[in-house]
Amino acid sequence: MCNLVITMSKLMNIYKKLLKHFGRQHWWPAETRFEVIVGAILTQNTSWKNVEKAILNLKKEKMLNNKKIANVDIRKLESLIQPSGFYKQKSERLKKFCKYLDRNYNSDLNKFFNRNTDEIRNELLSLNGIGNETADSILLYAGEKLKFVVDAYTVRMCERTGIKNAKKYDELQSFFEKNLPKNIKLYKEFHALIVELGKNFCRRKPECDGCPLKDVCKYGSSSHN
Ligand code: SF4
Repeated sequence: MCNLVITMSKLMNIYKKLLKHFGRQHWWPAETRFEVIVGAILTQNTSWKNVEKAILNLKKEKMLNNKKIANVDIRKLESLIQPSGFYKQKSERLKKFCKYLDRNYNSDLNKFFNRNTDEIRNELLSLNGIGNETADSILLYAGEKLKFVVDAYTVRMCERTGIKNAKKYDELQSFFEKNLPKNIKLYKEFHALIVELGKNFCRRKPECDGCPLKDVCKYGSSSHN
Protein backbone atom coordinates (compact mmCIF):
# COMPACT_ATOMS: atom_id res chain seq x y z
CA MET A 1 0.00 0.00 0.00
CA CYS A 2 1.27 3.50 -0.75
CA ASN A 3 1.77 6.06 2.04
CA LEU A 4 -1.30 8.06 1.00
CA VAL A 5 -3.57 5.04 1.38
CA ILE A 6 -2.00 4.09 4.73
CA THR A 7 -2.41 7.61 6.13
CA MET A 8 -5.95 7.82 4.80
CA SER A 9 -6.93 4.56 6.47
CA LYS A 10 -5.25 5.63 9.76
CA LEU A 11 -7.17 8.91 9.74
CA MET A 12 -10.44 7.17 8.95
CA ASN A 13 -9.74 4.69 11.71
CA ILE A 14 -9.35 7.57 14.18
CA TYR A 15 -12.54 9.14 12.85
CA LYS A 16 -14.51 5.90 13.26
CA LYS A 17 -13.25 5.36 16.79
CA LEU A 18 -14.21 8.90 17.80
CA LEU A 19 -17.61 8.59 16.15
CA LYS A 20 -18.27 5.28 17.86
CA HIS A 21 -17.35 6.69 21.24
CA PHE A 22 -18.94 10.14 21.12
CA GLY A 23 -21.69 9.69 18.51
CA ARG A 24 -22.74 12.33 16.00
CA GLN A 25 -22.16 15.88 17.21
CA HIS A 26 -24.62 17.70 14.91
CA TRP A 27 -22.35 20.70 14.46
CA TRP A 28 -22.67 23.59 14.13
CA PRO A 29 -25.27 24.16 16.86
CA ALA A 30 -27.19 27.00 15.18
CA GLU A 31 -30.51 27.64 13.47
CA THR A 32 -29.21 29.72 10.58
CA ARG A 33 -26.03 30.36 8.62
CA PHE A 34 -25.84 33.84 10.06
CA GLU A 35 -26.01 32.41 13.56
CA VAL A 36 -23.07 30.14 12.68
CA ILE A 37 -21.04 33.17 11.64
CA VAL A 38 -21.90 35.12 14.78
CA GLY A 39 -21.01 32.08 16.90
CA ALA A 40 -17.70 31.60 15.08
CA ILE A 41 -16.71 35.20 15.78
CA LEU A 42 -17.87 35.16 19.40
CA THR A 43 -16.36 31.81 20.34
CA GLN A 44 -12.76 33.04 20.16
CA ASN A 45 -11.13 32.60 23.58
CA THR A 46 -14.27 31.60 25.42
CA SER A 47 -16.43 28.57 26.12
CA TRP A 48 -19.43 27.75 23.98
CA LYS A 49 -21.75 28.20 26.99
CA ASN A 50 -20.85 31.88 27.12
CA VAL A 51 -21.41 32.24 23.40
CA GLU A 52 -24.86 30.69 23.76
CA LYS A 53 -25.80 33.31 26.35
CA ALA A 54 -24.69 36.12 24.03
CA ILE A 55 -26.60 34.64 21.09
CA LEU A 56 -29.69 34.23 23.25
CA ASN A 57 -29.47 37.94 24.15
CA LEU A 58 -29.29 38.84 20.47
CA LYS A 59 -32.28 36.60 19.73
CA LYS A 60 -34.38 38.05 22.55
CA GLU A 61 -33.76 41.55 21.20
CA LYS A 62 -34.43 40.33 17.64
CA MET A 63 -30.93 41.46 16.77
CA LEU A 64 -29.65 38.28 15.15
CA ASN A 65 -29.75 39.89 11.74
CA ASN A 66 -26.91 41.22 9.61
CA LYS A 67 -28.43 44.60 8.73
CA LYS A 68 -29.47 45.21 12.32
CA ILE A 69 -26.02 44.48 13.72
CA ALA A 70 -24.41 46.55 10.96
CA ASN A 71 -26.47 49.54 12.06
CA VAL A 72 -26.81 49.06 15.81
CA ASP A 73 -25.20 51.37 18.34
CA ILE A 74 -21.95 49.74 19.39
CA ARG A 75 -22.74 50.18 23.11
CA LYS A 76 -25.95 48.24 22.71
CA LEU A 77 -24.12 45.46 20.89
CA GLU A 78 -21.46 45.36 23.59
CA SER A 79 -24.06 44.89 26.30
CA LEU A 80 -25.83 42.12 24.38
CA ILE A 81 -22.73 40.08 23.69
CA GLN A 82 -21.06 40.79 27.03
CA PRO A 83 -21.36 37.16 28.26
CA SER A 84 -19.01 36.02 25.48
CA GLY A 85 -16.08 37.91 27.03
CA PHE A 86 -13.73 40.41 25.33
CA TYR A 87 -17.01 42.02 24.37
CA LYS A 88 -15.60 45.37 23.24
CA GLN A 89 -13.21 43.73 20.81
CA LYS A 90 -15.77 41.17 19.67
CA SER A 91 -18.58 43.67 19.15
CA GLU A 92 -16.25 45.74 17.00
CA ARG A 93 -15.28 42.68 14.94
CA LEU A 94 -18.83 41.49 14.58
CA LYS A 95 -20.10 44.89 13.55
CA LYS A 96 -17.27 45.30 11.07
CA PHE A 97 -18.07 41.95 9.48
CA CYS A 98 -21.78 42.80 9.26
CA LYS A 99 -21.07 46.21 7.76
CA TYR A 100 -18.78 44.60 5.23
CA LEU A 101 -21.39 42.02 4.28
CA ASP A 102 -24.03 44.71 4.00
CA ARG A 103 -21.93 47.14 1.98
CA ASN A 104 -20.57 44.56 -0.46
CA TYR A 105 -23.30 41.91 -0.62
CA ASN A 106 -26.39 43.72 0.61
CA SER A 107 -26.37 41.38 3.66
CA ASP A 108 -27.10 38.46 1.32
CA LEU A 109 -25.25 35.30 2.39
CA ASN A 110 -26.12 33.53 -0.86
CA LYS A 111 -24.25 36.21 -2.79
CA PHE A 112 -21.40 36.08 -0.32
CA PHE A 113 -20.94 32.31 -0.40
CA ASN A 114 -21.78 31.67 -4.04
CA ARG A 115 -18.18 32.18 -5.15
CA ASN A 116 -14.82 30.48 -5.29
CA THR A 117 -13.81 29.20 -1.83
CA ASP A 118 -10.30 30.69 -1.88
CA GLU A 119 -11.67 34.07 -2.88
CA ILE A 120 -14.10 34.06 0.07
CA ARG A 121 -11.40 32.78 2.42
CA ASN A 122 -8.98 35.56 1.46
CA GLU A 123 -11.71 38.11 1.92
CA LEU A 124 -12.59 36.77 5.38
CA LEU A 125 -8.93 36.76 6.41
CA SER A 126 -8.57 40.37 5.33
CA LEU A 127 -11.19 41.39 7.91
CA ASN A 128 -9.94 42.42 11.31
CA GLY A 129 -10.10 39.66 13.91
CA ILE A 130 -10.91 36.80 11.54
CA GLY A 131 -8.10 34.27 11.52
CA ASN A 132 -7.72 30.87 9.87
CA GLU A 133 -9.84 28.90 12.31
CA THR A 134 -12.72 31.38 12.33
CA ALA A 135 -12.63 31.78 8.53
CA ASP A 136 -12.67 28.03 7.96
CA SER A 137 -15.43 27.45 10.52
CA ILE A 138 -17.51 30.00 8.64
CA LEU A 139 -16.66 28.43 5.28
CA LEU A 140 -17.37 24.85 6.36
CA TYR A 141 -20.35 25.23 8.67
CA ALA A 142 -22.10 28.27 7.20
CA GLY A 143 -20.92 28.15 3.60
CA GLU A 144 -20.88 24.36 3.09
CA LYS A 145 -17.40 24.67 1.60
CA LEU A 146 -14.84 21.89 1.66
CA LYS A 147 -12.42 23.36 4.21
CA PHE A 148 -11.06 21.38 7.13
CA VAL A 149 -10.98 23.34 10.39
CA VAL A 150 -7.82 23.08 12.47
CA ASP A 151 -7.62 24.15 16.09
CA ALA A 152 -5.38 23.59 19.10
CA TYR A 153 -7.13 20.27 19.82
CA THR A 154 -6.33 19.08 16.28
CA VAL A 155 -2.66 19.97 16.63
CA ARG A 156 -2.47 18.15 19.96
CA MET A 157 -4.28 15.03 18.80
CA CYS A 158 -2.14 14.74 15.68
CA GLU A 159 1.07 15.20 17.60
CA ARG A 160 0.25 12.81 20.43
CA THR A 161 -1.22 10.05 18.32
CA GLY A 162 1.78 10.36 15.99
CA ILE A 163 -0.42 10.83 12.93
CA LYS A 164 1.20 14.14 11.96
CA ASN A 165 3.57 16.48 13.70
CA ALA A 166 2.90 19.96 12.37
CA LYS A 167 2.33 23.24 14.11
CA LYS A 168 1.52 25.40 11.09
CA TYR A 169 -2.17 25.79 10.38
CA ASP A 170 -1.90 25.44 6.59
CA GLU A 171 0.32 22.38 6.81
CA LEU A 172 -2.05 20.51 9.08
CA GLN A 173 -5.10 21.58 7.12
CA SER A 174 -3.68 20.34 3.83
CA PHE A 175 -2.67 17.09 5.55
CA PHE A 176 -6.33 16.42 6.42
CA GLU A 177 -7.61 17.67 3.09
CA LYS A 178 -5.20 15.47 1.14
CA ASN A 179 -5.84 12.37 3.21
CA LEU A 180 -9.60 12.46 3.75
CA PRO A 181 -12.36 11.75 1.25
CA LYS A 182 -13.70 15.05 -0.11
CA ASN A 183 -16.87 15.06 1.92
CA ILE A 184 -18.29 18.11 3.69
CA LYS A 185 -20.31 16.07 6.20
CA LEU A 186 -17.19 14.14 7.15
CA TYR A 187 -15.17 17.36 7.60
CA LYS A 188 -17.89 18.81 9.83
CA GLU A 189 -18.22 15.73 11.98
CA PHE A 190 -14.51 15.01 12.27
CA HIS A 191 -13.66 18.49 13.53
CA ALA A 192 -16.51 18.37 16.07
CA LEU A 193 -15.31 14.96 17.29
CA ILE A 194 -11.73 16.17 17.70
CA VAL A 195 -13.03 19.03 19.85
CA GLU A 196 -14.95 16.50 21.96
CA LEU A 197 -11.80 14.39 22.35
CA GLY A 198 -9.82 17.47 23.38
CA LYS A 199 -12.39 18.52 25.96
CA ASN A 200 -12.88 15.09 27.48
CA PHE A 201 -9.57 13.23 27.20
CA CYS A 202 -6.77 14.84 25.24
CA ARG A 203 -6.47 17.88 27.47
CA ARG A 204 -3.25 19.72 28.22
CA LYS A 205 -2.75 16.99 30.81
CA PRO A 206 -4.15 13.99 28.96
CA GLU A 207 -6.47 11.46 30.53
CA CYS A 208 -5.60 8.44 28.43
CA ASP A 209 -7.56 5.92 30.48
CA GLY A 210 -10.82 5.42 28.68
CA CYS A 211 -9.73 7.48 25.66
CA PRO A 212 -11.15 5.95 22.46
CA LEU A 213 -7.79 6.47 20.71
CA LYS A 214 -5.63 4.84 23.33
CA ASP A 215 -4.83 1.73 21.30
CA VAL A 216 -3.76 3.75 18.24
CA CYS A 217 -2.00 6.55 20.10
CA LYS A 218 1.76 6.73 20.49
CA TYR A 219 1.52 8.80 23.65
CA GLY A 220 -1.37 6.88 25.21
CA SER A 221 0.26 3.51 24.78
CA SER A 222 3.66 4.70 26.01
CA SER A 223 4.98 4.86 29.56
CA HIS A 224 3.57 8.40 29.98
CA ASN A 225 0.30 6.88 31.04
S1 SF4 B 1 -4.60 8.29 24.36
FE1 SF4 B 1 -4.08 10.07 25.60
S2 SF4 B 1 -2.63 11.28 24.41
FE2 SF4 B 1 -3.60 9.80 23.04
S3 SF4 B 1 -5.32 10.90 22.13
FE3 SF4 B 1 -6.10 9.85 23.93
S4 SF4 B 1 -5.91 11.30 25.63
FE4 SF4 B 1 -4.66 12.04 23.92
